[in-house]
Amino acid sequence: MYKRVLLKLSGEILSGEGKKGFDEKNSQYFTQEIKKIRDIDINVGIVIGAGNFFRGKELKDFKIQIADQLGMLGTVINSIFLKNVLEKNGLKSVVFSKIVDLPSVMPLRYDLVEDYISSGHIVIFAGGTSNPLFTTDTAAALRAIEMDAEVLIKATKVDGIYNKDPKIFSDVVKYDRITYEQAISEQLKVMDTESFSICERNNLPIIILNFFEEDSLLKAVKGEKVGTLVCDK
Ligand code: UDP
Repeated sequence: MYKRVLLKLSGEILSGEGKKGFDEKNSQYFTQEIKKIRDIDINVGIVIGAGNFFRGKELKDFKIQIADQLGMLGTVINSIFLKNVLEKNGLKSVVFSKIVDLPSVMPLRYDLVEDYISSGHIVIFAGGTSNPLFTTDTAAALRAIEMDAEVLIKATKVDGIYNKDPKIFSDVVKYDRITYEQAISEQLKVMDTESFSICERNNLPIIILNFFEEDSLLKAVKGEKVGTLVCDK
């Protein structure tokens, strides 16, 4: 059982795959799945992306360092939205960020983060790494280590890591467990190299799972075999 986890959600969790904005039905689903792990008292941190608004590289007419700032602000919008949906459903939560000064966002300070986690709040980290040219996967790896998480869980639409894209190829093999080195050397697209290497340096296990399979998150925190585990051996 992992007692303290960092959950990385793609922005599209809020909108539905390939869509923009927010979708009410999706909100109900992720709230229910997150509630299951709070109900057994797991400490939860969340990093959410902004794919339902902007991903820097999709804004072709902009310099990447400009476009990425829109992406980072998108993660703040999503984090405030997420906090409010969770709270409407009785789950105490708080948003931390270094990139904005807004009344519902707290400045990122380790002692505050710890106080809120220990008092049962879901802690949402907004604004990515605070730098353009990075992704929210890298932010998830950083924040996971900063909050002393025992595992980084990346919630995706596929049930783990495959040797080839299962949407394109039929002769694919799913990995139950792989090493950080293998994930980096095979250039597996599921997370970027920066995130894998931060986790490797800090010996933080990663679980990649299909968030849309009911109870998969709950099973992962309980240590049941689900998705793909990335670790040192
Ligand atoms: N971003 C950034 N720095 C960060 C994290 C994110 O510049 O540290 C920007 C970048 O443009 C990225 C966007 O925010 O494309 C949204 O993040 P991401 O693509 O990781 O979102 P997801 O695909 O998980 O929804």
